[in-house]
Amino acid sequence: MSLMRQLLTLHRVNTQVTGLRQRLDSAQRFLDAQQRTLNELLQQGEELRRQMRQLEATTANLETEGKSHAERIEKLRTDLNSSKNDRQYQAILADMKSLQAKRDELDATAIGHMDRVEALRTQLATLQGSIDERTTLRDRAKSELDQRVADVSTRLSELETEREIAARAVPADARKTFERVAKETEGEAMAPVIEVSRRHREYACGACNLEIPKESFSKLSGTGESLVQCKACARILYIDEDAQVAVGE
Ligand SMILES: [Zn+2]
Repeated sequence: MSLMRQLLTLHRVNTQVTGLRQRLDSAQRFLDAQQRTLNELLQQGEELRRQMRQLEATTANLETEGKSHAERIEKLRTDLNSSKNDRQYQAILADMKSLQAKRDELDATAIGHMDRVEALRTQLATLQGSIDERTTLRDRAKSELDQRVADVSTRLSELETEREIAARAVPADARKTFERVAKETEGEAMAPVIEVSRRHREYACGACNLEIPKESFSKLSGTGESLVQCKACARILYIDEDAQVAVGE
C-alpha cells in the first residue's frame, strides 16, 4: 500500500473517531455547563439561608433581652407603688422610662430583622424555582449524555482499535505529521486537491482554497509516496481520483 493509501485509511477512520468523540464531548460540555449554573444557584441558596439563620438568631437574642427589660420594668412598677417619697418616685420613674425606651428600640430592631427574614424567604422561594428548573435541565443533559455514550461507545472502541491499526501502518515521520495536523484541525488532517482549471493546470487546497504550486501537484500525482502539506492550513493533500473526474472540465 502506498503512503498516500495508508494515510487516507488512517484519515477516514480518524474522521469517524473524531466525529463520535465530538458528539460525546459536546454533550459532556452541555452537562458541565448546566451543573455549573446549578451549583452557583445552590450556593446562592446556601448564602440566603445563612443570612436568615443569622438574623433569626440575632432576633431571638433581642427578644430575650427585651423580655428581661420587661421583667425589670414590672419590678420597678411594684417599687414605684411602694416608694416612700417623691424623689424616690421620680428616680424609679426615670429608670422605667429609660428601660422602656431601650425596649422599644430592641423591638424596632427585631421587627426590622423579621421583615428582612421575610424578604429573604421570598427571595429563596424564587431562587428555588430557578433551582428546580435548572435541575430538570441538568438531569436531561445527563440522560442525553448517557444515551449518547450507550449509542456510540461500542462503535467508538471498535473504531479506536481500527485507528490504532491504521496508524501503526503509517511510517513514523508521516504519522507524526498526521497526528500534529489532526490535533490542529479537529481531526481534519487531510484535504483533497481541487481542480480549479485543468486547461491551465491550476489546483487548490480543498480545505482553505490556497493555490497549490505546480511542482507540489506533480509530486502528488506521482507514486503516492510523497507527503505534501498545504502551505496555508498545513493539511496533508491528496488527489481524490473520483472527484477529479467530477470537478474537471
Ligand atoms: Zn489548505
